[in-house]
Amino acid sequence: MAEEVKRSGFKSGFISIIGRPNVGKSTLLNLLLGEKIAIVSDKPQTTRNRILGIKNHPAGQIIFLDTPGIHRAQSRLNRSIVKVALATYSEVDGVCFMIEADRSDNDENDFILETLTKIEKPVFLVINKIDLVPKGDLLPIMERYSRLRSFEQIIPISALLGDGVETFVDELLKILPEGPRLFPEDMITDLPERFLVAELIREKVFQLTQEEIPYATAVVVEDFKQREEKNLIVIRATIQVERESQKGILIGKRGRMLKEIGRLAREEIEALLGARVFLELWVKEEKNWREDPRALRRLGY
Ligand code: GDP
Ligand code: MG
Repeated sequence: MAEEVKRSGFKSGFISIIGRPNVGKSTLLNLLLGEKIAIVSDKPQTTRNRILGIKNHPAGQIIFLDTPGIHRAQSRLNRSIVKVALATYSEVDGVCFMIEADRSDNDENDFILETLTKIEKPVFLVINKIDLVPKGDLLPIMERYSRLRSFEQIIPISALLGDGVETFVDELLKILPEGPRLFPEDMITDLPERFLVAELIREKVFQLTQEEIPYATAVVVEDFKQREEKNLIVIRATIQVERESQKGILIGKRGRMLKEIGRLAREEIEALLGARVFLELWVKEEKNWREDPRALRRLGY
């Protein structure tokens, strides 16, 4: 078996994608896997957990860890998010540090570079969102970052358009060790469907509400029942918020907001699960859950 792996040159291993919130980590992961497993919004700190995505390539299997953005933490929730991101360094074969072409100068990037100083594994610099800047802007960014540390490679990409992504995958395969597939070929994530469903609902809250509301929200799928005979899945989920006033906003006038969240989430859940979905949403007040260690544990953060 080991001999066979050697001869075939098949590679496998883990790569983490790190970067400050909103640089496009989840967008890249979804593009790489061809399916939406990580939720995306234009607001920072959408991703809260570590998300594992499996890319099957003829030459190897790359297992990506999409981490919550690294940033200086404030609330207990944010501190736990940063911890998850930093802990992934020890588990991987390489790290991709993602920055944005249009906003490469940033304190938070310097902070992330600091966290990377002790790491002895290959570190790639991925410059995302190249579609937003003229080509001439890239060279100065590359020069500036090369002075700060040595990178295995610097790879400009657009996760939105797919530009540079093939090169990105080829470069990662070069540094992965030879080894067999670690997950079945048809598996793209280790996350259970229930979690993905909760995340899709949370994504809609992020997209439709403003200010503190998205950050005060957590989603729990209470019930997930398959009705084989009708190809129908019945899902009951609770959206929890911190205050009564937030509850009112999430429900909206005559329930309009909640209805819209439910409609948009249901469409995506149906696409994800390949079945018709009946989605029942409830909103519940759970005082200060973001600062309550027990509530955080229950929610898996
Ligand atoms: P994350 O917080 O790093 O996971 O970032 P997301 O993947 O959630 O993306 C944040 C925002 O940037 C979303 O609105 C994306 O659509 C947008 N975005 C991501 N990649 C690109 C890109 O290559 N070009 C452009 N123009 N926008 C992008
Ligand atoms: Mg993300």
